[in-house]
Amino acid sequence: MKTLQLKKDEDRRIRVGHLWIFSNEIDAKATPLEGFEPGQVVRVEDFRGRALGLGYVNPRSLIGCRMLSRDPSDRPDAAFFRERLTRALSLRAVVCKEPFHRLVHGESDLLPGLVVDRYGDVLVAQVGSAGMERLWPVVEPVLVELLAPKGILLKNDSPSRELEGLAREVRVAYGVVPEEVEVLEGGVRLVVSLSAGQKTGFYFDMRENRARAAGLVPALAPGAQVLDAFSYVGAFGVRAALNGAGRVLCLDASEKALEHARRNARLNGVEGRMEFVCADAFEALQGLPANGFSLVSLDPPALVKRKKDLGAGRKAYERLNAQAARLLSDGGFLLTASCSQHLAVSEFKRAILAGAQGAFVQILWQGGQAMDHPVHPAMPETEYLKAFLCRVSRRGSGSTAQDG
Ligand code: SAH
Repeated sequence: MKTLQLKKDEDRRIRVGHLWIFSNEIDAKATPLEGFEPGQVVRVEDFRGRALGLGYVNPRSLIGCRMLSRDPSDRPDAAFFRERLTRALSLRAVVCKEPFHRLVHGESDLLPGLVVDRYGDVLVAQVGSAGMERLWPVVEPVLVELLAPKGILLKNDSPSRELEGLAREVRVAYGVVPEEVEVLEGGVRLVVSLSAGQKTGFYFDMRENRARAAGLVPALAPGAQVLDAFSYVGAFGVRAALNGAGRVLCLDASEKALEHARRNARLNGVEGRMEFVCADAFEALQGLPANGFSLVSLDPPALVKRKKDLGAGRKAYERLNAQAARLLSDGGFLLTASCSQHLAVSEFKRAILAGAQGAFVQILWQGGQAMDHPVHPAMPETEYLKAFLCRVSRRGSGSTAQDG
């Protein structure tokens, strides 16, 4: 096995448990990157030649190497992945009530570059690195062995694959995969598209935040109006309606997502109390009347995709949160989320406060990604989702809601 050598002091982060080695941290004189194939498995050493473990290299990527194991004698064979996947499975067996969840969350499950979501007996996998692409033929049979799925879909269409020099493709890797599956979440039935849906088909990461906020609905005034902004297939809105909301408005820019939201409303018998608007939320929210809702969920896509978008993204969060605050009746509740990893919690809080424009905000609960999306404490990159459940009051705060 070839060796990859790090520059002096560049082993520190790895020793703490981080799994990524950036290309500029590699001693390219001792171990030239051109000498490696994309995805090649290597022994990783510090500048003195002391072993750090096993990793896979990608000479084309900014992330030059990802660690597979801290034991250099490990080999990424079926037994290795059986152990890793069994560990991932046993966590979900404890923290997930239903067989609809994220089974593998990449680096946080010590399976760098691999995401697997479980929809009952169908799995959807996303391979995000050249190394995992090469190892997939070893991983797939172990998934089959451990879970006996009906089918596995490889949903390899994420733009980030290009950073790894990988082509984008969606294909059935194993067995039979239906175009649509039904997800069960806390008593709600939700039909989602797999190959045609967003990401792997469903946003499991918001599960606990949705449950928290929808859990308030039964105690709100009868007939409470709820807004599900950036609704996708209506996972929050349908749940709020099932919990007794008088009217729920789902807003999303994707007609396909709203088609599913409509079907999901019917599937749960709440279509009579739901409305669907296909529009750009940044504009549509401005057109809604002030004080109209007792509960608003605001769950936009990542508005800070790269560090350099931070300034513009912060303002966008502020604008959206300002709109949401304006739409809330006095003392209304806001579930506001950001899945931008680059936006710090403190900055997001500031955007919520600035958006409230003088209204009195109380943070009741701080949520994040659901427990099937664990955070690796040495890798800030694995902690991306922030969600706050707030109450927004105007009376007595010296501020009034303003239109526009
Ligand atoms: N809240 C959802 C997940 C939202 S994902 C849930 O709990 O499942 C973000 C959603 O925002 C996607 O459905 C996407 O179609 C939608 N979206 C992206 N940009 C938008 C925009 N400018 N206006 C409205 N919706 C948008």
